[in-house]
Amino acid sequence: MSDDAISPSAKPKGTRDDALTVLKRLRDNRHVAYFAGGCVRDMLLGIEPKDYDVATDAPPEKVRRLFSNTQAVGAAFGVILVRLGGSQIEVATFRKEGAYLDGRHPSEVRFTTAEEDAKRRDFTINGLFFDPLENKVIDYVGGERDLKYKWLRAIGDANKRFEEDHLRMLRAVRFAARFGLEIKGETATAIASHREQLKRISPERIAGELRLMLPPPTRPVACRELGRFGLLPVIFRHLPEDSTKPTNPRAFIVELLAAGETISFGLALAALAFSYRAGRREDVAPLFAREEVQTTVKACRTALKISNEEAEWVAGCTELDKLLGNEKPTVAIMKRFLAQPFSSDARKFLRVIGERGETAADRVNWLEQQFADFCKDNVAPEPLVTGDDLVAQGLKPGRLFKRVLDAVYDAQLEDRVKTKDEALRFALEVAKG
Ligand code: ATP
Ligand code: MG
Repeated sequence: MSDDAISPSAKPKGTRDDALTVLKRLRDNRHVAYFAGGCVRDMLLGIEPKDYDVATDAPPEKVRRLFSNTQAVGAAFGVILVRLGGSQIEVATFRKEGAYLDGRHPSEVRFTTAEEDAKRRDFTINGLFFDPLENKVIDYVGGERDLKYKWLRAIGDANKRFEEDHLRMLRAVRFAARFGLEIKGETATAIASHREQLKRISPERIAGELRLMLPPPTRPVACRELGRFGLLPVIFRHLPEDSTKPTNPRAFIVELLAAGETISFGLALAALAFSYRAGRREDVAPLFAREEVQTTVKACRTALKISNEEAEWVAGCTELDKLLGNEKPTVAIMKRFLAQPFSSDARKFLRVIGERGETAADRVNWLEQQFADFCKDNVAPEPLVTGDDLVAQGLKPGRLFKRVLDAVYDAQLEDRVKTKDEALRFALEVAKG
């Protein structure tokens, strides 16, 4: 899995200069036009915005007439993508939204004034406009003050805003974690009381938000906030844990994976789900066994519609009973583990649970020493004996075949057979049974 899988920021979509050109053309045509939303927030925080959005009173048809290369990306919302210079700038007509019927989408939109457009936005810090020609912030929602005090507040009646669009609960956690904001009283209370409604949001959208908040450096705070607002029991409602039991805070393994380390989304999710489950149990050891791991993976698939590769990662990072069981693992088991694509992430997880005392630290240290030794050699050499060799020896492909090949390969990994002849002899002995 590449790091791109969890990277929150694709490459910049638009430069400030190009956005300014777009804005000036609107203004030259006697329209109101401002930079809007996230880019204004970022500028005020001294962060380079990753893209610039323009909001205007020009209706979408007018925007399309003023620029030669445009695309209606959110036609129903009046959002036009303008391609200019090397940039793609989203130009949105000031709008007001009608009632939300499905917990996610407004029933209608109407074009309106800048002030009303600011008020339909989610959080005060996201409701700011900036006039680059006058170098002036236009603030109808108290966002400047909130940014200064590092507060996250919903615009208007918080209960109503989360009632309209339940995804905003996760956006709140993400922005709070990203900018180190405190989610203020009424907004915090409203999230806690609307948390069950997250069930109505599609798995893909929930996963999208988690993908944005689980990379460093937002991971530790995001996980803590998800826990604090009771959102984890909703996200992981398909797991068998008793969600009414208070979480044991020791179990927040996922926080320890922070330390600025870039890990795959699969590992972050595995650690989050593990933390959730571990927090509601006395004994975490069973969670490393295949059956429980499959339960975790299934719940992640249902709740988040993760890809097959991600599911494999979640499983690979947590199915550790062969390494952590009472008996020490054989060399072959350890080498087979190291040869898996997810082993480097799984080792990070192992180290953390060892340090955290969720499993025996001596075993983890011992494993690390072994792994370090093996990594000097090739942990996944070409097999000395293949299926073709067995056929040449007169064996018929079938169930026995795999057992023989596995046994010979284990022997090879453990240096019990060193040459092809030795390996073949061993294969025939196993086949005889
Ligand atoms: P980022 O840097 O993560 O892109 P952003 O603030 O630009 O942050 P976007 O999701 O790109 O966030 O949305 C752009 C703007 O649109 C936001 O700043 C906010 O004003 C508004 N907005 C986006 N999603 C919602 C929502 N669900 N409800 C209300 N307003 C929203
Ligand atoms: Mg944005």
